[in-house]
Amino acid sequence: FLTVDWAIDWLRRSAAVVAENRMALIELDRVIGDGDHGENLDRGFSAVLEALDAQAPATPGAAFKLAAMTLMSKVGGAAGPLYGTAFLRAATTVGDAAELDAAMLGAALGAARDGVVARGKAEVGDKTMIDAWTPAVDAAVAAAAAGAGPAAVLDAAATAAESGAVSTDPLIARKGRASYLGERAMGHRDPGAASSALILRAAANAAG
Ligand code: ADP
Ligand code: MG
Ligand code: MG
Repeated sequence: FLTVDWAIDWLRRSAAVVAENRMALIELDRVIGDGDHGENLDRGFSAVLEALDAQAPATPGAAFKLAAMTLMSKVGGAAGPLYGTAFLRAATTVGDAAELDAAMLGAALGAARDGVVARGKAEVGDKTMIDAWTPAVDAAVAAAAAGAGPAAVLDAAATAAESGAVSTDPLIARKGRASYLGERAMGHRDPGAASSALILRAAANAAG
């Protein structure tokens, strides 16, 4: 079972990996967007670290809610509200449970993805973070149904998200700023799909 310690570790590892990849995410977004994705997320997750230091959450759901509120208020652009909604839906799904099992994790990831879809209306193949999230959710739910534990569920999700991010390379974007580029977006990875894969890998590393 995963506890609040895992959730806090996930957020801290997310902040670390986003800081580490700040320039790489800026570069991806510079090519098919406006070049701020790495900066937006780094600012948001730095604020998450400050919020964790100010008041440690007591449950995984409280940690997700803290992340949601902070990312929504600190990250500008498209990604802030989308990640904020993802964490908020995950928080609502797990409620005040002290421990999360594999099935609950699959449900929380699914709700997070559904929140991004409700807000951004993207489908798989639109060259957005949904191209990372949807295969991640499918893999997590399948792993949980097959009896995998929480760490294996998160590893399956992260691996699928990484492939999903790579799968955006040849696509034409149909949502977000990259959609203005038409065929010029082809051959470039979607920054939000790339950051989603990093954040889901952080979740798996925190559990492993
Ligand atoms: P902005 O485009 O406002 O500068 P960011 O650069 O922070 O915001 O985030 C861009 C990322 O947001 C894209 O790479 C994409 O993954 C994601 N995104 C943009 N629009 C949508 C949408 N409608 N649905 C899902 N994801 C989206
Ligand atoms: Mg941008
Ligand atoms: Mg922007």
